[in-house]
Amino acid sequence: MKRRILVVEDEAHIADGIRINLDLEGYEAQIAPDGPTALEMYRDFDLIVLDVMLPGIDGLMVCARIRAEGSRVPILFLTARDADNDRIAGLEAGGDDYLTKPFNLRELLLRVRGMFRRLEWYESGRLARERLEFGGCRVNFRTYEGHGPRGPVELTPKELMLLKLLAEHEGEVVTRDQILDAVWGYGAFPTTRTVDNFILRLRKYFEPEPRQPVHFHAYRGAGYKFTGTPQVGEGEDA
Ligand code: CA
Repeated sequence: MKRRILVVEDEAHIADGIRINLDLEGYEAQIAPDGPTALEMYRDFDLIVLDVMLPGIDGLMVCARIRAEGSRVPILFLTARDADNDRIAGLEAGGDDYLTKPFNLRELLLRVRGMFRRLEWYESGRLARERLEFGGCRVNFRTYEGHGPRGPVELTPKELMLLKLLAEHEGEVVTRDQILDAVWGYGAFPTTRTVDNFILRLRKYFEPEPRQPVHFHAYRGAGYKFTGTPQVGEGEDA
């Protein structure tokens, strides 16, 4: 079945260009010219291309409302050039990736393909169907719920993707590049500092003593290793 993509863009020539190219690529694309229409339509789609600058309700607000309604549909933001604030705000509002205008349509297709690839990876394999259990912690990759030493936690899609990647390579060091590629794709978060911050969050959720990790180990300059069985004294910050 064709993947369905909603293009939310008020500039008709840009919207048409995107729609035609997505259709040529084998997707089924439709256009919503403004925020309210997007909010009526989005539930029928597998991915949203969302312009930030929209009349009425802007793209950031549209994204925030979609997330508030509990949807995790992947969202690719289109932002103005040099609008770093938009980019950060978009990712904070729950966007998955962003593209700066003016962009090359080929680049847009690559981003969309990458987002679907990451989604397919997330939904595949043993962990997507079963719960992960380690050291008294539990994680359900379908409901996004977890349980750690300090009680229940609700995880974001990116946190779960990172955890899934590490757990699939249990006992091995996973490099930051592998992580950025599998979880974020090209553009969204080029810094390895982001990965560090996400590791800190996983420790906060699941480590009995986040400052003395026994599951999520960091190796400076190399990457990270997950061990389901608690390992004391592993990694740099052990
Ligand atoms: Ca616009």
